[in-house]
Amino acid sequence: MKFGGTSVADAEAMNRVIAIVRKQWAEDAGDRPPVVVVSAMSKVTDRLVETGRLTGERLGEQAAQILADLLERHIGVASTLVEGTALGDLNAQLTADFSALQADVRRWAEQGEITPAAADALQAMGELASSRIVAAAFRQQGVNAAWVDSRQVLVTDGEHLAAIPDMEATTERARAIVGAKLAAGQVPVMGGFIGATAHGVTTTLGRGGSDYSAAIFGACLGVDEIQIWTDVDGMLTADPRVVSSPVLVPELSFNEASELAYFGAKVLHPSTILPAVANNIPVRILNSRRPEVKGTMITAEGRGDGGTLTALACKRGVTVVDITSSRMLMAFGFLRRLFEVFERFRTPVDVVTTSEVSVSVTVDNTRRIDDIVSNLRNFAEVSTEPDMAIVCIVGENLRSDPTLFCRAVNALETIPLRLVSQAGSRRNITFVMRDSDVVSAMNLLHDQFFTAKVS
Ligand code: ASP
Ligand code: MG
Repeated sequence: MKFGGTSVADAEAMNRVIAIVRKQWAEDAGDRPPVVVVSAMSKVTDRLVETGRLTGERLGEQAAQILADLLERHIGVASTLVEGTALGDLNAQLTADFSALQADVRRWAEQGEITPAAADALQAMGELASSRIVAAAFRQQGVNAAWVDSRQVLVTDGEHLAAIPDMEATTERARAIVGAKLAAGQVPVMGGFIGATAHGVTTTLGRGGSDYSAAIFGACLGVDEIQIWTDVDGMLTADPRVVSSPVLVPELSFNEASELAYFGAKVLHPSTILPAVANNIPVRILNSRRPEVKGTMITAEGRGDGGTLTALACKRGVTVVDITSSRMLMAFGFLRRLFEVFERFRTPVDVVTTSEVSVSVTVDNTRRIDDIVSNLRNFAEVSTEPDMAIVCIVGENLRSDPTLFCRAVNALETIPLRLVSQAGSRRNITFVMRDSDVVSAMNLLHDQFFTAKVS
């Protein structure tokens, strides 16, 4: 059970976490206790990054002041949740950790340099502190929990700020250290995001890395399910800023989640749950403010139940580039030449369609578009059209049910479509249209597939 920064933002949020864990553990009675992974309290990592920046600019006192403020915030939360000697021990530990860091930043500031290893030591403080508080709060409320130092479990390479886990070594440590707590009937409480090299030097997995930690620990321990507790109900059938009443997606496949993330669905980055998917462990997204909501389940296969689409996505403000050349006819090497131009100007393309003598692509980064066009003009006629948008329908069911595509096109009968493309995976179909049409297109599609009665 992984709880993100907003789910452990303050004492009230931590109380919700305790209630959620307690209830769930009681419900699967007899089973192993859950493993709890927490992020830093919300905004703490941002502040620690800021501390590092100030340190690098030799502003040691300002950096130390942020750490003092953070210590105060943590002690405030701890004091609301924990009492007596347990509180004394916890506050002494937090004070010692933050004071040591303050001494470090003053020293680093004098050197006017903060190495990646130092930045990691600094950023790790957020998860170390939040996990210690949560563990103590659990015990205060009678839940048999044990704090586990993730740096002793998650073994990584030495690539600071973006460390890569050593799954074999981590599995060994997780089974030994975390496994011992579970066997003793204790709820292990661990910080996400942080690890250490085999030599014990603190590392982090990169910003937002706590989901990744949860997937890694889940895979190493062979858990039944990984839960990502956040502040939204799950994945929605469409962006609520575009579609008037999107609904929750109950279940989707890992690949569908990847397609949606590519189009900006922000809930969870699918690459972070790869260790779970590789081990066939379902990942559930849940809302810690509304734990009764079923959430969204991500599995390797998804529903694939012969039903409707899974979700819609769109990307606005893209530019279509049309490249036409009679030289393309029967010529090899043409596409390579064409895409080399995009590569040279470091511009990714999204949708690609081709006919005998023309290729159309969409780009959303138009910073180098003038250079791209003038280089393409060396061997082709080129025109561009700005203010376009991509609408994407996503669903494993598109593979098995050809009527879904027909229904989508029918729903869009009033909208001029500029490009249409179905990828080899056949789990999504992309429509390119004028940006001014995208809101009506998305709502027409949404009515067709998610609110209209499915015949
Ligand atoms: N605390 C880290 C961050 O804010 C990791 C996480 O929350 O996932 O990036
Ligand atoms: Mg986060």
